[in-house]
Amino acid sequence: MGAIRLEKVKKTFGTLDVIPGVDLDINDGEFVVFVGPSGCGKSTLLRLIAGLEDVTDGKILINGVDVANEAPAKRGLSMVFQSYALYPHMTVYNNIAFGLKMAGESKAVIDEKVQNAAKILNLTDYLERRPGALSGGQRQRVAIGRAIVRNPAAFLFDEPLSNLDAALRVNMRLEITGLHQELKTTMIYVTHDQVEAMTMADKIVVLQAGRVEQVGKPMDLYNNPANKFVAGFIGSPK
Ligand code: ADP
Ligand code: MG
Repeated sequence: MGAIRLEKVKKTFGTLDVIPGVDLDINDGEFVVFVGPSGCGKSTLLRLIAGLEDVTDGKILINGVDVANEAPAKRGLSMVFQSYALYPHMTVYNNIAFGLKMAGESKAVIDEKVQNAAKILNLTDYLERRPGALSGGQRQRVAIGRAIVRNPAAFLFDEPLSNLDAALRVNMRLEITGLHQELKTTMIYVTHDQVEAMTMADKIVVLQAGRVEQVGKPMDLYNNPANKFVAGFIGSPK
């Protein structure tokens, strides 16, 4: 289960009011995209949900439980970063297994989970390689594999494809939406790319200056943008 609700979530950095107050409902199993221009607070909002930043005020409910003051590890969420954050000296296998080892899982459980993730992500033949001997797309898949084995309530992606070239990006988009169809786990995906938002999302959250401008299905936003900003950003003719 991965239902997430934000209630009056606020974040200030010093005097900078980055998130003045966000209310948002994410249903279990939904693929939600946070989209908006650079600096609008997408990463901050995702990091607040992940627990990598503390809220200044407000509630973050995961399956009805307020986790706003819980440590990241207690939230049951897995974050996938743009920079992959892989360990260069470890094999793909050990990169994927790392969190499970830290959690004290048995060798047999670790092996089953790593092999299963590798199968889903087409990494079975690469498990003994090190990240330096992989393509960008493969590295991103390792980062996703590391998230999958933890069986999270939700996956959080922060611009995971922006380091990849255009052709590969299109491929990885399909892989991530395919993964969502297979796992049916809640995914929150941050991007500044309108095309990614329009093609991947069940539900788009358009942000500007830390505020939610509109929430809706891609075609609803396109056909009925709430304002000029959304229309312009989504590329709607209205
Ligand atoms: P986005 O991901 O949409 O590009 P961010 O969430 O990274 O935007 O940043 C939103 C705003 O918050 C920006 O003005 C940024 O400079 C500011 N900000 C983000 N993190 C910090 C921080 N740790 N300290 C101070 N300001 C920050
Ligand atoms: Mg960002």
